[in-house]
Formats: sequence, C-alpha cells, structure tokens
Amino acid sequence: MKNKILEAVKFIVDNGLVKGTWGNISIKDGNFIYITPSGIPYDVLTEDDISVVEMNGTHVSGLKPSSELPTHLEIYRVRKDVNAIVHTHPVFSTTISLVSNFIPPLVEDAVMILGPKINVAEYALPGTLKLAQNVIEALENNHAVILKNHGLITVGQDINEALTASLVCEKTAEIFLYAMNIGNFNLINEEDAVILRNKYLNSYRQNSKDIR
Ligand SMILES: [Zn+2]
Repeated sequence: MKNKILEAVKFIVDNGLVKGTWGNISIKDGNFIYITPSGIPYDVLTEDDISVVEMNGTHVSGLKPSSELPTHLEIYRVRKDVNAIVHTHPVFSTTISLVSNFIPPLVEDAVMILGPKINVAEYALPGTLKLAQNVIEALENNHAVILKNHGLITVGQDINEALTASLVCEKTAEIFLYAMNIGNFNLINEEDAVILRNKYLNSYRQNSKDIR
C-alpha cells in the first residue's frame, strides 16, 4: 500500500495536479487507512513517512497524517464502494469552483467515470468536519467533487480509478471553461447521462486498470 501511495504522489506531481506539498492521497485496506503525511515535500517522501491510521482516526504509525484526514475518513465511512481518495489543487477544476456550482453532463468519459453532474461543495475551512460534511453532501454517488475556492477530490474502488478520475475531471473542467467562453453549447441529456453512467459502473468499470 505504501509504495502505491508513493506512485500516486508521483502521478499527481507529474500530471501537474498539485504544486508543492498541497493535496493528499489515501488508500483504505480493511480497517486501516494509508495516507500522505502533513507538509512533507513530495520529492523526499519515503514509505516510512506514510501515515497509517485506523478507521476511527487512531494514529498507528508513520508521520502525522494529512490535515484533511477527517474528510478522507468521512468519505470511507459513507461510501463503502470507495477504497482510494485523491485530493489535488488543479487549475481548471479550481477555476470552475469560482464560477459555477457544478459541471453539467458535457462529455461521455466524464459522465461515465465521474457521474452525470459534478457538484461543487460549499466552502469550509480546510481540515474541518464542516468541510467533510459539505464534501459528502456534494459528492453524492459520484466519483468526483470540486471544492469551492479550493480544489478537487476524486474517489475510486482502487487508486488507479481515483487517479484516472482526477485527470478526467481536470480535462472536463478545461473543456467547460472553453465552451463557456465561446458561447452556447450542447449537453448530453439527463436520461442518456444516467444510461452512460450505469454502463460504466456495471460493465466498463471492471477494466478500470486498463483506462490509463
Ligand atoms: Zn487542499
């Protein structure tokens, strides 16, 4: 698990989803959560630094966990289908959080992998239970939620799915900004969006490891 966290950290840095030490990643394994520690530069992070906590929040080993631990724990508590969480501060998704309360059903891959409509969670200070509650409310049964004036959280049945969701959400946010700047644009209708989403969850998703 710890090496998977390090690989995922490299992935979000290489793909420009974070700058500096911002963002955090966790993987759930039974009653244990493996999560990036608070404030350690990613380029010097080692397996021993990865924080291990129990589902009740008790620190087991490694460095002090990310300050966003409450949000990670709350998502795992509510969403039993989720085993990995990726939180980043990407440019386009964060920009959307300033100008819209959601991303509508724009393109097929986003609708399938993320959900029919990606909501923007209400603002709350980082690390607070209030932020965790706002995130849960806006996430619904989707695989992505944008945090107002803050960034992006994606979830997955495994870390690959959560990482893919981050890239797809950021790409879709970029498309949304271009489309809004150009003018009128077409949406996928709600009925088709639900059909596409279910198709992904019920069949395509088994192959999530092949997506990226
Ligand atoms: Zn953040």
